[in-house]
Amino acid sequence: MKNMTNLIIMGPPGAGKGTQSERIVQALNIPHISTGDMFREAIASGSSFGLEVARYINQGMLVPDDVTIEIVRERLSRPDCEHGYLLDGFPRTLPQACALENLLKEINRPIQCALNIAVDKNALIERISGRRVCPKCGASYHIVFKKPNKEDICDTCGSSLIQRKDDTPESLKVRLDAYENQTKPLIEFYEKNGVLVQIDGLQDIDKVFDDILNVLKGEKR
Ligand code: ADP
Ligand code: AMP
Repeated sequence: MKNMTNLIIMGPPGAGKGTQSERIVQALNIPHISTGDMFREAIASGSSFGLEVARYINQGMLVPDDVTIEIVRERLSRPDCEHGYLLDGFPRTLPQACALENLLKEINRPIQCALNIAVDKNALIERISGRRVCPKCGASYHIVFKKPNKEDICDTCGSSLIQRKDDTPESLKVRLDAYENQTKPLIEFYEKNGVLVQIDGLQDIDKVFDDILNVLKGEKR
C-alpha cells in the first residue's frame, strides 16, 4: 500500500510534534511546514513581520489567524508540496482549519491523516522546561530525554544551545490555555472528517515514531 503523504501533526505544546516531524519528513521525503519555525525565522531575520509576530509569540499568545493563514497559503502553493506535506502546529484554531480545507481543495491535496500526539500535562511541563534548541540550525534537544553529545552544544552545527523565549512557566500557561480553548476542539473536527489517528505520545521517542510509521504505511489505524 502507498504511504499517506498529506499530513497534519497535532498535539499540545511540548507533545513532540517537532521531534517526530523531523523523522517523518525524512522517511517520506515531504516538506515540513512548521508555522512556529516560520515565525521564528522571521523573528531572527529582524523583518517588520518578525517584529510583529514576536509580540504574540514571546508571550505565548497565538498569532492572529489572517497572518498565519496567509503564510501557510503561500507555503503550500510552492511546487515542493505537490507530492505531499507535513503541517506541524497548523491549524491551531477552527477558522484556520476551515481556511485550510478550502486551500487544500484548491490545490487538490486533501488531508489523508491527522496524527494527534496525546501527552498529559505533567509530561508536557517536564518536556518544555527541559527543551533546548539550536538558534542557528533549529535542532531540538532535551536535557534528559534527548541529550546532545556535548552538554549545551548542537550536535549538528556546534552552536551553543538556548532555551526558547516562550518556554518559560508564564508563557507555557498562556500556551496551554490557548491549546485547551482553541486547538483541542480540532481533534473532534478531524475525527468527524474521518482522518484522525491517536498516537500515544507518552512512549519514548523511537516508539512513538514506530507507531506513526505503522499508521502511515496503512498497517495500523
Ligand atoms: P512540540 O513540537 O510538540 O512543541 P518538541 O518536539 O519540541 O514538541 O518536544 C518537546 C521536548 O520534549 C523536546 O525537548 C524533545 O526533545 C522532548 N521530547 C519529544 N518527544 C519526546 C518523548 N517521546 N519522550 C520524551 N521527551 C520527548
Ligand atoms: P510552536 O513552535 O508550534 O510551539 O509555535 C510557537 C508559537 O508560534 C506559538 O506559541 C504561537 O505563538 C505561534 N504559532 C505557531 N503556529 C501558530 C498557529 N497555527 N496559529 C497561531 N499562532 C501560531
